[in-house]
Amino acid sequence: MDKTELPWNNPVVEANASAPAARLGQYAQPPLRNFGSIDPYNRISREAKDMIPPPFEYQAPTSVSEALALLGKNPEAKVLAGGQSLIPLMRFRLASPAMLVDLNRIGDLAYIKEGEGWLRIGAMTRESDLDQSDLIAKKYPLLADTTHVVADPLVRNLSTLGGNLAHADPANDHPATMIAYRAQIVATGPKGERTIPASEFFKGPFETALAPNELLTEIRIPAPGKGSGGAYVKMERKVGDFATAAVAVQVSLAKDGTLERVGIALTNVGLVPIQASAAEKALTGKKPDDAVLRQAADLAAKAAKPESDARGSEEYKRALVKTLTVRALRKAVARAQGG
Ligand SMILES: Cc1cc2nc3c(=O)[nH]c(=O)nc-3n(C[C@H](O)[C@H](O)[C@H](O)COP(=O)(O)OP(=O)(O)OC[C@H]3O[C@@H](n4cnc5c(N)ncnc54)[C@H](O)[C@@H]3O)c2cc1C
Repeated sequence: MDKTELPWNNPVVEANASAPAARLGQYAQPPLRNFGSIDPYNRISREAKDMIPPPFEYQAPTSVSEALALLGKNPEAKVLAGGQSLIPLMRFRLASPAMLVDLNRIGDLAYIKEGEGWLRIGAMTRESDLDQSDLIAKKYPLLADTTHVVADPLVRNLSTLGGNLAHADPANDHPATMIAYRAQIVATGPKGERTIPASEFFKGPFETALAPNELLTEIRIPAPGKGSGGAYVKMERKVGDFATAAVAVQVSLAKDGTLERVGIALTNVGLVPIQASAAEKALTGKKPDDAVLRQAADLAAKAAKPESDARGSEEYKRALVKTLTVRALRKAVARAQGG
């Protein structure tokens, strides 16, 4: 196992109680331990004990305002959504929040609605709800592709779109998708709501533009017009794994068949999701023939900042970005031409 990785094979950073927001600090050593060992006195060994989080206070508010009040009063608190990233961090004692503010009883944070030019998704909407939505399957193929390759069905039953974005793991799949869509992230704090473009939301690994006293409450994706299409293409070592690399593409075609709008973003080839702006620019206004798509893919590969690790060398990942970009562009264009 790579030294900088946790057992679920994902780079994780060290948390401490004084880092209440998503910023978690420096890359941690992996907790490579013999979890099963029991000492001769039949007490749990230090190794096994460390699978149990330290004590914390638990609050389960039933409204956003109640949750915000709790966050405002407790700077050491952390929000609990699906728990699929936070609970493992706590069990390995890489995060030790003094309080968990559980959002699961706030019913009005889980919805999928379309209107006034936007698809609006509540932060607590589960991956499995996105997976099963006919609206998303029909009109938002980039999001449908993405959700379908996040983890496995068991994780997707619990994990939430808001949690996936707020966690800001560079290996998570939704951040690149939201950048390619030009989505807006809605943050709600004591002074009300503000919207943050997805391209400005991810500040570093596990670090976002959210303030410690703010909640991510909604994700807004511009409703695609006629002649739009998208695709997410991910290379993973096995089903359910985080991406070795992945590419999100969203395009719209003008009436003459040229590319009018192009969004391209890359997963897990940098410390944050990367918008491939030069590739987007090179495609805009062009007919999407194969030579043009390949040139853009070269530019996307140049924008990637991969590092060699257990998933492959820096060179391999860069070459992968090129291949995945061409595939994602072809698929997105074909969908745009058919829709
Ligand atoms: C085995 C396994 C495989 C996985 N594979 C993938 C994969 O292939 N691709 C992928 O993208 N992800 C993968 N994940 C991660 C999974 O999608 C996580 O669930 C997700 O990253 C976090 O969502 P959550 O709802 O579980 O959030 P939680 O774990 O509850 O929270 C994560 C973080 O976000 C914060 N947070 C959550 N919601 C909010 C909010 N509304 N406002 C402010 N802060 C909030 C929490 O305080 C915490 O810091 C995997 C997880 C597991 C366990």
